[in-house]
Amino acid sequence: MAVQSRSLESHRKINPVAILALTGILIAALWSALIFEQGRNYEDVSRHSWNDAGSVARTFEEHVARTFNNIDAVLLVLRQAWVDDRSKFETKVRIMQAAYDDSLLVQIAVIDANGKLAYSNLDPDAAPVDLSDREHFRVHRDRSADELHISKPVKGRVSGRYSIQLTRPIWLHDDRFGGVLVISLNPSYFSGFFGSLDLDDGGSVALIGLDGVVRARGINLKLDESAIGKVVPGDRPFMKANSADVGTFEAASVIDGVKRRISYRRMNEYPMVVTVTKVTEAVFAEHNELWLHYKWGAAAVSVLLLAAGTWLARAVRLQYQLKAHLLVANDSLRTLNTIAIQAGAELGDKFYKALELGCKHLGVEMGVVGALHDNAYVVDKCYSAVFTDLKEGDELELPAHYSRDMFNSRDVVIARRDSQSHGASLLSSAVLEHECFIGTSIWVGDTLYGALGFYSTKPYAQEFDDSDREFVRLLGRWVGSSITEDRAVKKLTALATTDSLTGAKSRGYFTAAVDDEINRAHRYRRPLSLILVDLDYFKHVNDLFGHHAGDETLRHFSGVVQGLLRTTDLFARLGGEEFAILMPETQEHEATIVAERLRISVSNSKIETPSGDVQITISAGIAQLKTGEDFKTIYNRADSALYKAKSLGRNRVELAGSSSMIGV
Ligand code: GH3
Ligand code: MG
Ligand code: MG
Repeated sequence: MAVQSRSLESHRKINPVAILALTGILIAALWSALIFEQGRNYEDVSRHSWNDAGSVARTFEEHVARTFNNIDAVLLVLRQAWVDDRSKFETKVRIMQAAYDDSLLVQIAVIDANGKLAYSNLDPDAAPVDLSDREHFRVHRDRSADELHISKPVKGRVSGRYSIQLTRPIWLHDDRFGGVLVISLNPSYFSGFFGSLDLDDGGSVALIGLDGVVRARGINLKLDESAIGKVVPGDRPFMKANSADVGTFEAASVIDGVKRRISYRRMNEYPMVVTVTKVTEAVFAEHNELWLHYKWGAAAVSVLLLAAGTWLARAVRLQYQLKAHLLVANDSLRTLNTIAIQAGAELGDKFYKALELGCKHLGVEMGVVGALHDNAYVVDKCYSAVFTDLKEGDELELPAHYSRDMFNSRDVVIARRDSQSHGASLLSSAVLEHECFIGTSIWVGDTLYGALGFYSTKPYAQEFDDSDREFVRLLGRWVGSSITEDRAVKKLTALATTDSLTGAKSRGYFTAAVDDEINRAHRYRRPLSLILVDLDYFKHVNDLFGHHAGDETLRHFSGVVQGLLRTTDLFARLGGEEFAILMPETQEHEATIVAERLRISVSNSKIETPSGDVQITISAGIAQLKTGEDFKTIYNRADSALYKAKSLGRNRVELAGSSSMIGV
């Protein structure tokens, strides 16, 4: 029996797992492409921003250099005037001053060799204030080099505002140190320029001395006064002597703590560095926003892909399951049909095969067909792949071992040990520890016969579904109708082969069976005897006691005969009160003993009937099969012997007698 197993799914061509894997690959590919592209775009934005900052730094550096160069030129002219002809110095100062905005060029002053203020354009009559402690004085006094010095920002003692001192030493004609010429520059000087720089929001430019002190800083197109004089940390790359003159780095600002990308350029001629910064977050704000959108989009596409993939995989899986299910169901039905129409098979064997089929179809280990008797369920047939303790004829007590629910319901009952489902009590069996059950009652016509049940010891991974329910219902009905049919056939056969009054075989059955026996006796050369029996004066019984008493007498006679015969002997009523006994493996004299025993037994018995006690005798004729003889001739010979018995006075046994009997 080729029953498809439930694991047919493994032979699929399109594997649902492959669909899911493909979906996963698509999603992974989508995200890989997205992340790759985002990385590229990030690099682009970054590079662009560095380039941008770099070019602003270059512009700013050029501007600062030009400014310092110009002021240095002024310093050189004025210094010459101071040394050559001090009377013209004042005029020269005014000419120079006219070229600059007053507010930017804070002061032009001269400090004499002793550090006393010798001249100030702000107050020509100023008192000779001692400035010998000022850095820009001490630098030149202590150093013989003639170079422009750019001071740290100094807060004016009177104005409270910052200024940067650009100074040159004064050398007298005799090469003595003659003091210091000072031009004080307002850091705002640069702010006019800040506006012209292409700075991002929050971005800044700054002029910082290599001493780390901020000289000027512009942010949001304006001067940032608060930054002036601040000291940048020494770890900044541009502060390190061995670092490149032009570079970039990223750091949190010491001024406002905001993370910035910084592009710097060290100035060639002055110990200064210019920096251009961009707020990191602002640089990537557009990029981040754009890619956030893309990520949301990709997430949405991923979810859709996943949903579609899952749906498709599920659909394919269901389709395969359905196909497998149909194949299994189809196969099982075909097998059941084969079992049902098997000619000549015993009903019990058919049930066994059907139970085996049911177990395989349902994926369980045991199936039972049983009949309901008062308070017991009696096993007719049991198929079991694992259990061995349930045999035909075993009785299971009700209701302890089999619930009455089973028999009260005409429907299929499903029960699981772990659930409170209807019929779960079916599994309370003390004998059989079952985890799940499916079964149905069996009806023969309108009469409850018993039940069909399938059990499993394993907790069933999947529920029994509608098709399982339908299969069990069909099986139950088939079992019921098979029993009905079997009973009808048996009844008909009995009717056709048995004489209903006496229980002896009918004449038809006898004449059909007798030829087989005669043929067998000839083939194997075995003896065979035929006894013909006729009741004596039977007409009188009917006449004296009535027809019913006659019938009763016939029945009694038949009972006596059946008590004397072997199972291999064939006893038949040939008609009226004439009977035949065919005895295989029996010689004439052996048949005579039986016939005599019968004759005596009948003549000694008294048959009680409502009309009175009847007593009868019988006459018998015996013939043993002769070589080449058929039924007709042996019958005639036995009949002649019977006739002889009658004519010799009845209540006797006569032999046909012959010299050529077989098997003697
Ligand atoms: P003999 O000793 O010569 O055989 O006499 P007999 O009366 O038995 O013989 P006969 O053949 O004259 O009578 C047979 C009778 O058996 C006739 C018939 O009424 C009766 N008989 C045949 N079949 C049945 C039956 O089924 N029931 C009853 N009650 N009587 C039957
Ligand atoms: Mg008779
Ligand atoms: Mg007769």
